Amino acid sequence: MYSFNYSKPDTIEAAREMMRSAEDGIYLAGGQTLIPAMKQRLSAPTDVIDLSSIGELTDIDVSDGRVRLGALVKHADVAGSDAVRSAIPALADLAAGIGDAQVRNRGTIGGSVANNDPAADYPAALLGLGASVHTDQRQIPADDFFVGLFETALEEGEIITQVAFPVPDRAAYAKFPNPASRYATVGVFIGVRDGVTRVAVTGAAPCAFRSAEIEAALNAEISARSLDGITIGADDLNNDIHASAEYRAHLVTVMAKRAVTALPK
Ligand SMILES: Cc1cc2nc3c(=O)[nH]c(=O)nc-3n(C[C@H](O)[C@H](O)[C@H](O)COP(=O)(O)OP(=O)(O)OC[C@H]3O[C@@H](n4cnc5c(N)ncnc54)[C@H](O)[C@@H]3O)c2cc1C
Repeated sequence: MYSFNYSKPDTIEAAREMMRSAEDGIYLAGGQTLIPAMKQRLSAPTDVIDLSSIGELTDIDVSDGRVRLGALVKHADVAGSDAVRSAIPALADLAAGIGDAQVRNRGTIGGSVANNDPAADYPAALLGLGASVHTDQRQIPADDFFVGLFETALEEGEIITQVAFPVPDRAAYAKFPNPASRYATVGVFIGVRDGVTRVAVTGAAPCAFRSAEIEAALNAEISARSLDGITIGADDLNNDIHASAEYRAHLVTVMAKRAVTALPK
């Protein structure tokens, strides 16, 4: 690594102020992406502002038909929360399937959604459940938050404070994990609420997306059979050493069928 200024504020206001006065600052959550990126010099900030002492960002609240997760809530805490599991079991299962024990014990929901890795699991849950991302400035619907490859709607210096999920009637997530990292080669999240089905796909394309075609089929009939005729085009999908675009296209319908089958009755 190289030298940089490190600070650890204990309020959101102090973090914002430190970011304002930094030449090229960056926030640190669990460091699961940022630290490796700095070690490889893919990221070279002048100032690292560690959010981990801001207590209000660690809350889990399940009430009024919402699951609210503070930005610093770790994947292991979501996986192990009885309240989350009883409200949205698919969300707890998704968190339990992220990476390995070390990653789950350091990685945070805020860091995951801010990073917007194309193969990350949470973006599918946010889109599939119609969640909203709360920041120190505003609320952003998930549909507007994930903008492109590693790109979000966050403005310079904006801090994610919370992600709020409406509790669905039913939800399920199916992923075909990379066997080494457990990142999604393809993952499909289905959420059903008030008779409307949302279907979100991660891992397949540069950015997680909702599949209008699969949603239309499932809004007509929620069954794996209703997806039989659907073929996903490979043109805009990721093509890398892990999987070809055609293979990923095939996996989208396979994972969607698995997720439908896994929906609680
Ligand atoms: C080996 C390995 C395997 C993994 N496997 C998976 C997997 O299977 N599925 C999966 O979904 N993910 C996986 N991950 C990613 C991991 O789950 C973390 O969520 C992700 O790396 C972000 O880490 P972090 O929370 O520590 O954030 P950091 O690395 O600290 O930060 C990441 C980025 O988010 C920004 N940031 C952090 N918090 C905030 C905030 N509150 N407001 C604004 N910006 C913020 C930072 O400035 C930085 O740019 C894996 C990671 C590793 C290292």
